[in-house]
Amino acid sequence: MAKIIAITNQKGGVGKTTTTVNLGACLATLGKKVLLVDIDPQGNTTSGIGINKADVKYCIYDVLINEIDPKEAIVDTAIDNLSIIPATIQLAGAEIELVPTISREIRLKKSLQQIKHLYDYILIDCPPSLGILTVNSLTASDSVIIPIQCEYYALEGLSQLLNTVRLVQKHLNTSLQIEGVLLTMFDARTNLGIQVIEEVKKYFQQKVYRTIIPRNVRLSEAPSHGQAIITYDPKSKGAEVYLELAKEVVSVE
Ligand code: ADP
Ligand code: MG
Repeated sequence: MAKIIAITNQKGGVGKTTTTVNLGACLATLGKKVLLVDIDPQGNTTSGIGINKADVKYCIYDVLINEIDPKEAIVDTAIDNLSIIPATIQLAGAEIELVPTISREIRLKKSLQQIKHLYDYILIDCPPSLGILTVNSLTASDSVIIPIQCEYYALEGLSQLLNTVRLVQKHLNTSLQIEGVLLTMFDARTNLGIQVIEEVKKYFQQKVYRTIIPRNVRLSEAPSHGQAIITYDPKSKGAEVYLELAKEVVSVE
């Protein structure tokens, strides 16, 4: 049975998509069967792993709104053991279309239950909001990974996120856990980065991953080539740290 992990933070640009793609690819490289679920209408995980959106037959929208068999929406990637349920811009309407529907918060959970047995990990890339798509993701998940960018306002907005996690735990998914907090885009040349690390560790304590993701230009280039870092530049620092993170994630199995 897969462990389902939502990669979530309602702030944009903190490294959710980069982490979903690269943690997923590294877990697959370690021999785990991995499914990525792109639930962000921007579809950056979809294009970032090399799926041409014009070729997508069924996307996560069809799973959530039209309730198609989720197996129909799974697409293989160029990496062994790594598949994806893609997102296209169609998903932008889902936030509103889901509002009047029955059991709107548990749509994703019900779908993933049908395919959970096929994988070791299912990673859900959440949109930059705390709306119904994120609530669906938290409801469907065993745990959450929260990426936090090492910058000045790092902790801002986290109380809303944690409040949403608590609400979901109370009403929709009592077993939801915090898997880990991941520090991203660390720049060793600044004191600020070090201060942020200390602040985040004080707040989240042992939940913070030992692996810290530095700024690495190869990580930002890889998506435009439709590749995870592990295939785009396997010798880069970015590949090294995401592999380290994958090992850390596996070590708590
Ligand atoms: P989110 O999904 O939270 O919006 P992204 O993963 O898309 O964030 O990252 C935002 C931008 O920063 C993207 O252009 C991405 O390529 C870049 N980026 C993410 N992580 C790193 C990193 N460690 N080093 C350099 N650039 C990064
Ligand atoms: Mg993203």
